[in-house]
Amino acid sequence: MPPSMYDYLIVGSGLFGATFAHEATKQGKKCLVIDKRPHLGGNIYCESIEGINVHKYGAHIFHTNNREIWDYVNGLVPFNRYTNSPLANYRGKIFNLPFNMNTFYQMWGITKPEQAKAKIEEQRAEAVAKMKAAGVTEARNLEEQGLYLVGKDIFETLIKEYTEKQWGRPCSELPAFIIKRLPVRLVFDNNYFNDAYQGIPVGGYNKLTEGLLEGVECKTNTDFFNSGYRDWRKYARQLVYTGPIDEYFGFCYGKLDWRTVQFKTRVMDIHNYQGNAVVNYTSHEHPYTRIIEHKHFEMFNQAVYDCPKTVISEEYSTEYKEGMEPFYPVNDERNNQLAERYRTLAEKETGVVFGGRLAEYRYYDMAPVIEKVINLWRSLS
Ligand SMILES: Cc1cc2nc3c(=O)[nH]c(=O)nc-3n(C[C@H](O)[C@H](O)[C@H](O)COP(=O)(O)OP(=O)(O)OC[C@H]3O[C@@H](n4cnc5c(N)ncnc54)[C@H](O)[C@@H]3O)c2cc1C
Repeated sequence: MPPSMYDYLIVGSGLFGATFAHEATKQGKKCLVIDKRPHLGGNIYCESIEGINVHKYGAHIFHTNNREIWDYVNGLVPFNRYTNSPLANYRGKIFNLPFNMNTFYQMWGITKPEQAKAKIEEQRAEAVAKMKAAGVTEARNLEEQGLYLVGKDIFETLIKEYTEKQWGRPCSELPAFIIKRLPVRLVFDNNYFNDAYQGIPVGGYNKLTEGLLEGVECKTNTDFFNSGYRDWRKYARQLVYTGPIDEYFGFCYGKLDWRTVQFKTRVMDIHNYQGNAVVNYTSHEHPYTRIIEHKHFEMFNQAVYDCPKTVISEEYSTEYKEGMEPFYPVNDERNNQLAERYRTLAEKETGVVFGGRLAEYRYYDMAPVIEKVINLWRSLS
């Protein structure tokens, strides 16, 4: 191998590419990571504004049940004690999420689990009776499904209009399968995740990226397709590709669809805007679905007031168009089939590892991405 040649050319410095580079470097392999963006880290990248780490590509909360993965990331950067406890604001009234005894107290003034259970059952029975009267045995749309699962009050206050903003259509016109289950907790517990471990890297996600990419050669502002690296065999023995799979194959079967979110981010001249990192706005009164107040991911108690400003991001669910960020795969018939055809092409491509959310056209949380790369390396060695 000529001296300048790499073992791996890695396209994309997100969690997949960065973890791959980290593991390869540990095994003595030489890697070059390129990314078309002006920064490393992919979607976990944070921009520092007024001393606050702003989650530029949407709020990211690390959570896992896997002790090994938790130790792995904490070995690179310690994680803080952030616990995700989102709130819902419905026409000025605040409710705790996920639906639990605090929510039911706020909604109905009840204090005992048995009372909550009875109330939900009563409202579910009303929904079933209505469907029966209309000669319906199975929910025909998301509206009927929601009413059937949790009854009128929870559905109308916390789900209906929020979901309509997400999808840009009335619930009565959305398919029932979008919501399969709506878990209800009969305990006073506002912790959103059921996982054993959760938190945010101390100092922000860029510290995690720096830890993963320490000692790895990286080039930003370098698009695989518009640089000499497209001819990757000139540079490396193997290619690790984490960009969009359809783009790799020149969109030969057509373009895959995505769902996206747009952010309106503002600096505010106050210490504390909403007192919580995540507030869902569940009515049509506000056009956005959520407001993220970034400082609450990393600043607790007095630290909130030691930082004189705050940064908030309003989130707007938007139909994906060319040039927007491809965030969530669309799991409908057309896109599933199209993705499968591209995956079949990928299997035939020698010397290339396709990995990550864009190259696999699959939604992955952060911990499973890291787990996947670690297992991949285990299978290689
Ligand atoms: C809005 C949103 C919120 C999320 N919140 C959470 C959360 O709270 N908790 C959680 O666990 N997970 C969350 N996730 C998931 C998390 O973002 C992913 O698990 C993670 O980003 C996957 O990493 P990746 O490397 O596959 O992709 P990415 O992070 O997208 O990295 C891919 C990289 O490839 C680069 N690239 C693409 N094409 C090219 C090219 N042609 N040339 C060079 N570079 C290229 C891109 O610029 C990008 O940097 C969220 C995802 C989204 C979309």
